[in-house]
Amino acid sequence: MRALLGGKGANLAEMTNIGLPVPPGMTITTAACIEYYRLGRKLPDGLMDEVKRNLTVVEEQAGKKFGDLTNPLLVSVRSGAMFSMPGMMDTILNLGLNEQTVQSVANNTGNLRFAYDSYRRFIQMFGDVVLEIPKYEFEDLLNQQKENQGVKYDQELTPESLRKVIDSYKKLVRSKTGRAFPEDPMEQLKMAIEAVFRSWNNDRAIIYRNLNKIAHDLGTAVNIQSMVFGNMGNDSGTGVAFTRNPSTGENTLYGEFLTNAQGEDVVAGIRTPRPIIQLKEEMPEMYTEFVRIARLLESHYKNMQDIEFTIERGRLYILQTRNGKRTAQASVRIAYEMAQEGLITKQQALLLVDPSQLDQLLHRQIDSQAQLNVIAKGLPASPGAASGQVVFDADEAEHLGKMGKKVLLVRTETTPDDIHGIVAAQGVLTSRGGMTSHAAVVARGMGKPCVCGCEAIKIDYIKEEFSVGTTVIKKGELVSIDGATGRVILGQVPMKDPEISAEYTALLSWADEVKYLGIRANADTPEDAKKAREFGATGIGLVRTEHMFMGQDRLPHVQQMILAETLEDRQKALSYLLPMQEGDFYGILKAMEGYPVTIRLLDPPLHEFLPSLEELLIETTELRVTGKDPVLLEEKLRLLKKVRSLHEFNPMLGHRGCRLGITFPEIYEMQITAIFNAAARLTQEGYKVLPEVEVPLTIDVNEMKLFKGKIDAIAKATMAAVNVKFHYAVGTMIELPRACVIADELAEFCDFFSFGTNDLTQTTFGFSRDDAEGKFLPHYLESKILKENPFIVIDRKGVGAFMDMAVKRGRKTRPDLEIGICGEHGGEPNSVAFCHEVGLNYVSCSPYRVPIARLAAAQAAISDGEIIGTR
Ligand code: PEP
Ligand code: MG
Repeated sequence: MRALLGGKGANLAEMTNIGLPVPPGMTITTAACIEYYRLGRKLPDGLMDEVKRNLTVVEEQAGKKFGDLTNPLLVSVRSGAMFSMPGMMDTILNLGLNEQTVQSVANNTGNLRFAYDSYRRFIQMFGDVVLEIPKYEFEDLLNQQKENQGVKYDQELTPESLRKVIDSYKKLVRSKTGRAFPEDPMEQLKMAIEAVFRSWNNDRAIIYRNLNKIAHDLGTAVNIQSMVFGNMGNDSGTGVAFTRNPSTGENTLYGEFLTNAQGEDVVAGIRTPRPIIQLKEEMPEMYTEFVRIARLLESHYKNMQDIEFTIERGRLYILQTRNGKRTAQASVRIAYEMAQEGLITKQQALLLVDPSQLDQLLHRQIDSQAQLNVIAKGLPASPGAASGQVVFDADEAEHLGKMGKKVLLVRTETTPDDIHGIVAAQGVLTSRGGMTSHAAVVARGMGKPCVCGCEAIKIDYIKEEFSVGTTVIKKGELVSIDGATGRVILGQVPMKDPEISAEYTALLSWADEVKYLGIRANADTPEDAKKAREFGATGIGLVRTEHMFMGQDRLPHVQQMILAETLEDRQKALSYLLPMQEGDFYGILKAMEGYPVTIRLLDPPLHEFLPSLEELLIETTELRVTGKDPVLLEEKLRLLKKVRSLHEFNPMLGHRGCRLGITFPEIYEMQITAIFNAAARLTQEGYKVLPEVEVPLTIDVNEMKLFKGKIDAIAKATMAAVNVKFHYAVGTMIELPRACVIADELAEFCDFFSFGTNDLTQTTFGFSRDDAEGKFLPHYLESKILKENPFIVIDRKGVGAFMDMAVKRGRKTRPDLEIGICGEHGGEPNSVAFCHEVGLNYVSCSPYRVPIARLAAAQAAISDGEIIGTR
């Protein structure tokens, strides 16, 4: 019931159902929040009556009464949306305290200091969250009092001092709001509920949702729960723990606790907590009980859990559990090991890993051979290595990041207000806070390297520097961090490619067992082809032959070919290129032996191979003015004339794709000959080759008919000349809406289709793929006119509908038509799922995204429900 109760509420209910010690409470549903917004930010009628009715049930269970003078019930009020948004929404603790109940708490616990401390925390949180008085104003008053009393830490404040803090807080509230701090617990509760509803639309929540692609109309639930106290002495405490290590995935309880503290001390990173294993020595019974519950929760939810607990006077309470955030490395190991332990099936394991996270595993690490100037060590909060200029402020990190600078954000601790700085930084370094502090959780979720709790570094925000012993590092200096070990290193560091774990290899082999889609790579060189095979590609879906024309040894011949005035001259230039292209295809076909290789005939407009018009204008003017080299001037003028004649207003819609093959047939003939010569040679050498000759940018069946005839003729002639036989296929790229509409006709002359969704997106939207993202597209995304960038995630409604049409029409003519995708979307999980849904045979993407595509394809197949039983 996550949608209705929010993640936290649903989990609390679930934990109560399985008999865990959860403090009694109630949940106001997300539906009430949606209604609150529908009514124009007004609580729905009858809501508070219902809250009151339920509160009596909570009172009964807790054995305390809300607002009671002898045994008062205090509650926490927390937000809880359907998707976890750590640290993004507001929480109020100790609600129900006022001048009278605070005395009863003092009497009942025999601890006036605790009662006053709870009260001042409550006023501060309520003041911040509900009354919207900046938190630092309360902090200033607290610090003043510490100074007055001459102490350093909050815990050292005497009850008398705390009383003064409370009075000063109340004065602040009166001066800021024009009225006294609310004394009536029921009024406090009503105001708190409204504040939680409001917090759904605060800035940090909106940024977090945008970043994590969470819908804005889901609303949050409100959890009202009786308070338990971890700060009631040395037999009390609070902590958070993961059931497995969230950094490495190792199957050991991983967490931290603080004795005599409230939960927010841990989460906010104000005090650095101690490893959970030490709880075993301090409170052995509590530890054993916690381990039992942790195991129970993990096997119940079939996922690694992130659990918050509190011990109140020797009694353990579970406050919260949720699926724990983890690094990519941990995610893979946990999924694999849980399946091996028999806790989940292989398919469930595959669904546990977020495909886009796999990317991180392929990221670079610090070279272990490198000489490093390690200046400090903190907690290894999120793996990967990062180097950047030190900055101390999130706004500055964002500003420099936008200018293309690499920065490392250094803070004592981060808060949700720093999120834009974390996004912009290469990595994050904090001096305080544990593995569950804000910086650690957020960085891990983003896959950013992070070292936290590095107490050796002393940060001076005013001087904009930090020091470690006598070493001072100023803003702008280069520092590196290693999020896997916690090392902080002076200067930039050499990095190396990562190593792949056995769990990763095994998990991806399970993915291969269940997926239907084939996974190919886009590769233009034998090296890339090899890399793609290592990552698990079983074919090449796109060889862009123009990349081969750009080599220094090729370009002069390509230019001569373009400049040729006669067919004879052009053929001469092409005859230089033929053996080079043959060599290229030989290398790639050999590297992909046994797998299909789709080779696209020349696609880009020819002017791309010539110098730019501007460049030539400057050069010829200079040569003219100086009169230095008349021969060179002559040559440049000839080039200029040609460039002018090739100039187009919209080259992307111009003389490119197979239009080149129509107007310069000899170029395509050279390429086709090169492909088949290479295939013939390899066949003679005993290799099995599967070349697929691909015609780009077709719009009509007559184009395809023409090329199919040529390709078949050259294949036949080549095979006859050397007396070998090899398999080959002929097909087209589907990159234009018209091609989708007439796909049934195109299929008559095609063995395969491959969707070039970069161009298909460009031409369906009429958005230039070169300009849109730098110009207006960001505004479309910010203002939510478009939900996603269509050049990244397939636009199912438009581009997707064209694809669906092309698949259906193409297969109507030729049921065995092989269909793939080779646009950038081929490595994006959501788009891969779409390709599965419309029945493509394969996706093709850059080699580094092959693992993502393999897992995404498996998940699509599993979600489709087509796989029966477990394998
Ligand atoms: C495409 O258009 O999707 C494609 C793969 O071709 P290119 O990006 O080379 O135009
Ligand atoms: Mg294209």
